[in-house]
Amino acid sequence: MSNRRVVIAEIRLLLLTLLVSAGLGLLLGSLPVGLVVGLSMIMVLWTLQFRRILQWLERPETEPPEGKGVWGLIFDTIYRVQRRSEEAQFRLASALDYIQDSLASMRDAAIIVDARGKIAWANTSAEHLLDIRFPEDRGQLLQYLIRAPQFNAYYDADDYSQPLRIPPTSEGDDCLQVEISRFGEGDRLVFVRDITENYRLEQMRRDFASNVSHELRTPLTVIKGYVDTLLDLDAFADGPLRRPLMHVNEQSQRMETLLADLLWLARIESIESQKKTDVVAVPVLLDELLLELQIGWTERDIQLQVTTSASIVGDEAELHSAFSNLTINALKYSETGPVVIRWHEDTGYPTFSVTDFGVGIAPQHLPRLTERFYRVDKSRAQSITGTGLGLAIVKHVAASHQAELTVDSQLGVGSTFSLVFSQHES
Ligand code: ADP
Repeated sequence: MSNRRVVIAEIRLLLLTLLVSAGLGLLLGSLPVGLVVGLSMIMVLWTLQFRRILQWLERPETEPPEGKGVWGLIFDTIYRVQRRSEEAQFRLASALDYIQDSLASMRDAAIIVDARGKIAWANTSAEHLLDIRFPEDRGQLLQYLIRAPQFNAYYDADDYSQPLRIPPTSEGDDCLQVEISRFGEGDRLVFVRDITENYRLEQMRRDFASNVSHELRTPLTVIKGYVDTLLDLDAFADGPLRRPLMHVNEQSQRMETLLADLLWLARIESIESQKKTDVVAVPVLLDELLLELQIGWTERDIQLQVTTSASIVGDEAELHSAFSNLTINALKYSETGPVVIRWHEDTGYPTFSVTDFGVGIAPQHLPRLTERFYRVDKSRAQSITGTGLGLAIVKHVAASHQAELTVDSQLGVGSTFSLVFSQHES
């Protein structure tokens, strides 16, 4: 029977009961008494059914009571809703178990921290990597157990868009990478990965580049010395060997620049994670840079516009090299038109930008520009001197000064390269 019919049948039964009680009341001489008796009977019946429901709900694991008519319908409906919610709870619990099992079996440490910064859960890898034991350390402050200052600064800064790398402080220590994501109401999921292997490989690569550059410098100086001497000799003033010797001279000059850039890059990389403390007066630095460039690029119109006096906490030599690389690129990759250097706060942060009206860069090259030795147009780049390391240097200087390198460029129109500093010291 459909629910509607059951309800209609119940109403009919109620009306019939009232009718019979009214009839009996009339027969016995009082209609109200008959109605009161009828209504009381209905109330007693309902109270009994309510009691049965309450008794059953107190022990929901038992079968629902048998019931007829509308009461049977109510029992069935409650029973179905209850089953559905039990199933949903079971599914949720299985999903939670599944997620916890998969987090528990990870090689990375996974820790769930509540809104007050206390450990709510941790997997077994947290013990190997961080010495955090679960459940023993449940309720402890995570920042109390991980005492690395970089970790605490990262945790408090609340900007988790980039992972944090904690380099080893002494030989034999691990290099760790931390990633944090927020969920729920202020809870955090902290992942810590052991990247010691990658760190060592990276260090080996850096050491190799720097050692090779060092080793190549001495033979190169000797070659250059001999070529210079030979070129000065009268015997080679106009002879057929002059051109090849000039070529050797040019190439050794290029190689010298390349080695200097490689060594500089290795130095910047090696001290990237060290905290910088010098206050660099950028407007003064840019005045000096302008003078230097005007000596080498007499034909060009180089403009300097300074609209903020902001200083930067950093390394003067590194900042000079980044600004100089970007400006020299602007000069190299534009044959005519002005090159405009700006130091401003239009972005809300102290920003260095340099604009040229030169060849520009097609969008597909932009993501790869800061790779070592990446040059956009190899054949054209041949005629423009460069090592392909300039923007790699700029990227590392940016990273060690909490700055972001942005490029706005249009092919055939020109480019603006900017360094946006998120810190400043006025
Ligand atoms: P390079 O020594 O070749 O200039 P960089 O690392 O400084 O090396 O730059 C990488 C490449 O990016 C360059 O070879 C060039 O193709 C492109 N590039 C850099 N700056 C500009 C610019 N201002 N305009 C156009 N292309 C540029």
